Amino acid sequence: MTASHRLELLAPLSGLLVPIEQVPDPVFAQKMVGDGVSIDPTSNVLLSPVAGKITQLHSARHAVTITTADGIEVLIHIGLDTVMLKGEGFSAKVKEGDTVTAGQPLIEFDGDAVSRKARSLLTQIVITNSDRVARFVPGNGFVRAGQTVALTLELAGAPAAATAAAASSDEAQSEPVRVPNPTGLHARPAAVVANLSKTFTSTVKLVRGDETANAKSVVAIMGLEVQYGDEIHVKAAGPDAAAAAKAVAEMIAQGSGEEVGGVISPAAQKHLAKTKRAVAPAKPKSGDPNVLLGVSASPGLAVGQIFQVRQEAIEVAEQGRDAQFERSKLDAALKDARNQLEALKSEISDASKAEIFNAHQELLEDPDLLDIAINGISSGKSAGFAWQTAFSTYADKLAALKNEVLAGRANDIRDVGRRVLRIIAGVKEAELAVPENAILIAEDLTPSDTASLDREKVLGFATVGGGATSHVAILARSLNIPAICGIDEDALQLANGTAVILDGSKGSLRKNPSEAEVAQIREAQVKLAKQRAEELAAAHQSPVTTDGHHIEVVANIGGLDEAKQGVELGGEGVGLLRSEFLYLDRADAPTEEEQTQIYTDIAKALGTERTFVVRTLDVGGDKPLPYLPQPAEENPFLGVRGVRLCLAEPEMFRVQIRSVLRAAPFSKLHIMFPMIATLDELRAAKAIVAEEKAALNITADVKVGIMVEVPSTAVMSELFAKEADFFSIGTNDLTQYTLAMDRGHPKLAKQADALNPGVLRLIAMTVKGAHAQGKWVGVCGGIASDPQAVPLLIGIGVDELSVSVPAIPSIKAMVRRLSKADCQKLAAEVLQLGTAAEVRERLGKAAG
Ligand code: PEP
Ligand code: MG
Repeated sequence: MTASHRLELLAPLSGLLVPIEQVPDPVFAQKMVGDGVSIDPTSNVLLSPVAGKITQLHSARHAVTITTADGIEVLIHIGLDTVMLKGEGFSAKVKEGDTVTAGQPLIEFDGDAVSRKARSLLTQIVITNSDRVARFVPGNGFVRAGQTVALTLELAGAPAAATAAAASSDEAQSEPVRVPNPTGLHARPAAVVANLSKTFTSTVKLVRGDETANAKSVVAIMGLEVQYGDEIHVKAAGPDAAAAAKAVAEMIAQGSGEEVGGVISPAAQKHLAKTKRAVAPAKPKSGDPNVLLGVSASPGLAVGQIFQVRQEAIEVAEQGRDAQFERSKLDAALKDARNQLEALKSEISDASKAEIFNAHQELLEDPDLLDIAINGISSGKSAGFAWQTAFSTYADKLAALKNEVLAGRANDIRDVGRRVLRIIAGVKEAELAVPENAILIAEDLTPSDTASLDREKVLGFATVGGGATSHVAILARSLNIPAICGIDEDALQLANGTAVILDGSKGSLRKNPSEAEVAQIREAQVKLAKQRAEELAAAHQSPVTTDGHHIEVVANIGGLDEAKQGVELGGEGVGLLRSEFLYLDRADAPTEEEQTQIYTDIAKALGTERTFVVRTLDVGGDKPLPYLPQPAEENPFLGVRGVRLCLAEPEMFRVQIRSVLRAAPFSKLHIMFPMIATLDELRAAKAIVAEEKAALNITADVKVGIMVEVPSTAVMSELFAKEADFFSIGTNDLTQYTLAMDRGHPKLAKQADALNPGVLRLIAMTVKGAHAQGKWVGVCGGIASDPQAVPLLIGIGVDELSVSVPAIPSIKAMVRRLSKADCQKLAAEVLQLGTAAEVRERLGKAAG
């Protein structure tokens, strides 16, 4: 090691040096911020321990970072919990951006006042980019401020160009941005922000009030627990600081690539984000000693026997051999883990669920996690011990957060952490000797456990931890396994082999069911399975009612895969392509070529005999596009969304229209506009289609229709029908706009029922108006897939049902069992009822 690779840090205060591990705050003792040394001070003017630049001065004036010309970041933190004093008792002698010499006064503080109010005056000197340091040699005993060396660093090779540049060049700070994500910057948006930040050479930080986080670290961002509506700014230092601060701030303002919606609606997420977990919610108790309650994680019924799953302990030695050996062991394990996750992803058919393991792969590269592990190795710990400390520290930190969604991600960190740990320790994942018909009970299952469950044997599971939004619950739903999260802890005491009924839809576990109950459920399951098999076998038969009326049954799809599945399951076409799926989750708009390719591929998969309804872009408001910044809206569902956004962005709209039109020769193409509320909108959108069609010289008969999702359109349907070729009723939105109930509101879920007579009357009005003009009407909202609603919709006169892909065979089979004349009588009766409950009761009776 040459002299230029040594850096001596002078004591910033006089006092007694204390090993950093002894500081009574795990953040410092576990070197989460970095390695270094602490001082129990006897002086009260903090001096700079090195020459450099002030790259960060905390607004509470209790912490300052000096970056040396070599790019070493020296953070000095006066006292413990002193951030709470909000600057009281501290006065800064420098400002951010100042160049300082070693020994120059930085902060003066009132030692007496601060020590009375704060937990401790212990002052930490830590290196926040500890990976730049090969060895830390802390001093000991009493040191004199500005005179005695308190800490010597042996630097790890030449300073990285990037860091050196960071120290020697610009700094930039963005304007404050408000976080639009309903659940704040949780794992996925945090990963987007971190990935973008990593593309810049500069250091990038997120700053919220007094707190900062390394924007290149997913874990650090999550640890900041940024909530919906929080105001943060982005601070960057380095050669590309201005570009970094701007780009990252813009990304955050636009939702960090998040597709809002998905498993839980934005409104529900918003609600969740606000739900504080200061006190753990009491687990529900059933009152019946035989019934244990939790929350529904994945619907379905399972009858089986209890099998308790306990996590095995992985033993690792604390002390390592030498740092180089341990480091290469860690690196190799991280690489193996990455490969394992790649293999696991390929086993999950649903791409959006495989994303969960993409996030796990990201965690393997998280700079903060790796920093802690590498620091541990540098201080003599084994790779296993250092890694275990790193991931457990962060998982615990996340688990303690108030935001439920973020806290739930602790399970993901433990999962990926244990995966690496097993590789380091050379232990194979214990093969569970799961018996047949098992209902697993566990404190918590990890996403990896869930994805690799033996579906032949495991019928369902219940975990004490987790919630409906956890990744485990999402996976259970995609794997179609009934599951309960947050079950009463008494479930852990149930003996293996105990007979139980798990009702994933209700979130209940019934023990000791009577033989009659079990027999009844088994019988129902056998019947259902038989019916499913018959429906599947007849999936390609035409859906014609017993009295000869053909009701078209088509698919709601999000892309090519679902188009193909729909055809395989007997779908007569596509009634709704939610084209926004092509636009979301990407950093830039899809090009005209990309779009043409996808619409053409879907059209070819359907062929010229099947209907293909492309709904034009339905984003805006609650579903922001990262590359199309829109001002925040108070009421996004009532804002610039759907066709309103397209008309406001005609260039983008025209690109889509041209791409869709090019698919015309390959299918029965229909173009449909979402969220039409006025005739003016329909006319403007139609004019664009006509212009582009003429410009492309397309002569094929392309039908142009609208979604009926807004009451004004339903009420005016006859006038709309004069100008639109067809209607498709979006009952999901029509219900929320008719009843003024947010479609995702957890408390209104039951009342926001599309079978409310108010909504039904609007559907009937729409059909009447359309038929008066000889136009057809479909329903593509959720009730088209609801077996209770199907007879009613047919009775009202709906011509087409656009349903979720898996529901196609059963809805077709149902149509074949019904008589339209009977359905009409039923509809006439139901339309006179006053409440959704009455409607459901009547429909239940009709179904027998
Ligand atoms: C609807 O609103 O019913 C509909 C089908 O559209 P989306 O659910 O995509 O808003
Ligand atoms: Mg809609």
